[in-house]
Amino acid sequence: MARISPEIRQEILDKTDFLSVYQEHVRLQKKGASYWGLCPFHSEKTPSFSVSGDTGLFYCFGCHKGGSIIQFLMDVDKLTYTEAMEELARKAGVQIRFEESEHAGEAEKDRQALLELYDRLSKTFHWFLVNHASGRRGLDVLHTRGLSDELIEKFSLGYAPASRQWLYSFLKAKGYSDNFLKHSGLFSKNDQYWPLFADRIMFPISDARGRVHRFRGRAMDQEGPKYINSPETAVFKKQDTLFALFQALDSIKSSDEALICEGYMDVLSFHAAGITNAVAPLGTAFTSHQAMALRRRASRVVLCFDSDEAGLHAAERACSIAAAVGLETSVLLPEGGKDASEILEKKGAGELTRMAKNTINAGHFLLTRAGQLFDISTMEGKAKAVSFLFPFLDALDSDVRRQEYIKEIGRTLG
Ligand SMILES: [Zn+2]
Repeated sequence: MARISPEIRQEILDKTDFLSVYQEHVRLQKKGASYWGLCPFHSEKTPSFSVSGDTGLFYCFGCHKGGSIIQFLMDVDKLTYTEAMEELARKAGVQIRFEESEHAGEAEKDRQALLELYDRLSKTFHWFLVNHASGRRGLDVLHTRGLSDELIEKFSLGYAPASRQWLYSFLKAKGYSDNFLKHSGLFSKNDQYWPLFADRIMFPISDARGRVHRFRGRAMDQEGPKYINSPETAVFKKQDTLFALFQALDSIKSSDEALICEGYMDVLSFHAAGITNAVAPLGTAFTSHQAMALRRRASRVVLCFDSDEAGLHAAERACSIAAAVGLETSVLLPEGGKDASEILEKKGAGELTRMAKNTINAGHFLLTRAGQLFDISTMEGKAKAVSFLFPFLDALDSDVRRQEYIKEIGRTLG
């Protein structure tokens, strides 16, 4: 495996502004000789994560994780040692050099090869969409939805050719082995030549550093499932991935807020309207891993799920998940269409931007929902409403807020 010499390692560490590296992931406050913030590795509401101003080492008094800045990057971004050093070298402006060693790490090689494959494929799908006649129909669909060429470029949207033979032949011609392709997450489990994606609009899914490691394909016609996701691969597991986090990251940090949408098309629609802090969970459910990934970068989230019953239910659950990691949470209910994508298509960017201002806080949203779901004029209905509200109440991060919310519940339910 490629090794980094001790001299280069030292040079990188000497030139690293470690505090700024930590602060990309944790909002730190100086107290004495140390810096404190909310731990990115476990869920908490009062800071127990510390960085020593002298040594640059970190330690969490809650979950007891600790170590160097290299260890921190490896853990927080799920990087290998080499990747973490590359990242630090890039930030410090040091040219990294490797010494070859005999024991090549097979898993590491596979991981790199897989990332290269996804990167290559993402570019190829994009080429088909914007340059090839077969991608024309997909491009028209996206244009009709109000998405510009610039946006299509920014998110590297693509088109997977309709031929079921194309992908296998293309990748074999590039020199990939059958065994490697079998575990690539791109082909059917039952038939290793059968691609998961054919004649679909492709959304590459990347991590916070922009490395594509999964795809979602949207059907062009009504046949078959509307969306297909490629599975998480054994060599690249990331539970905290959110669609568009890479593109939204700067905006999330500068606004201190993330907008969580239900669908990928909604995310793109918000970006098209200039609201560039929009992201989406990969499947339908918003998870606590994803909430943690956002809390490392902002203190507030806005949930914008579809206005149907399934969307409202997803929003209810997401309120508690976000509140439980200490995110200040509010809800945006789509008005004038079932979701952001429909509003952009039918009413334009101006309407979507106007709508985006009408947020209500999560507590009010849930109380209103409780009133709709249960008959709160009866004792039984009141009891059901209280147990419905309990997960959110339990997740609130201060006694003061909790007491205030209990009062509000009392007033509403009588
Ligand atoms: Zn911790």
